[in-house]
Amino acid sequence: CGIVGYIGEKDVTDILISGLKRLEYRGYDSAGVAVYDGENINVVKTKGRLSVLEEKVMDTPLKGKVGIGHTRWATHGEPSDINAHPHLNKDGSLAVVHNGIIENYLELKNWLKGLGYEFISDTDTEVISHLLDYYYEGDVLQAVLKLVSRIEGSYALGVLSKNEPDKIVAVRKDSPLIVGLGEGENLIASDIPALLPYTRNVVIMADRDIAVLTKDRVTFYDYYGREIEKPVTHIDWDI
Ligand code: GLU
Repeated sequence: CGIVGYIGEKDVTDILISGLKRLEYRGYDSAGVAVYDGENINVVKTKGRLSVLEEKVMDTPLKGKVGIGHTRWATHGEPSDINAHPHLNKDGSLAVVHNGIIENYLELKNWLKGLGYEFISDTDTEVISHLLDYYYEGDVLQAVLKLVSRIEGSYALGVLSKNEPDKIVAVRKDSPLIVGLGEGENLIASDIPALLPYTRNVVIMADRDIAVLTKDRVTFYDYYGREIEKPVTHIDWDI
């Protein structure tokens, strides 16, 4: 399973799919991407190989310069198009990709259902899209801070908001996530090889680190929303 994300000036869909290919060795049963096209977040996702996703993307061209991508190794809910990530909130304004397991998802699912949220997938991940919807008040970082105080388990997350399309928010706990620092572009990925075509300067996120990526800058925060400094690692090996 794997996560990629890109924000910059280039055509994002090709970058997401080639990044996911570099993470294929991690194993997966489904794949998907979410791309902001200047107006809306468009999602294409499917059960099966990345080649199937590529075919679907050819039928539905995805233009944009910011997006997130995912390969899924199903833990909750069978491999299917609907259970594939990214998952959206109810009005499609927030997209999330997740690797890991939300241990307390049942309790959260019941609570969210009580608030009127409707679940369309069988994944544990879908509680994240609805919790983000519940907490979102115009600042996706604040919504993610509240989200992580509610969820237990393991996660690497990439979040895209149609209302703040100049950023990607990422956070991890017990699942890997690396930030790649480019020139006028920044990226996230589950592993370093997926970043190497774009940059050799990376930040290895620690558990509970949160990153806010814009195309020109990456800012890191702790679990309480306080800005933190992270060391940059220069990768001098090749794959
Ligand atoms: N638990 C999530 C799911 O089953 C994410 C699995 C993964 O890490 O790919 O959808």
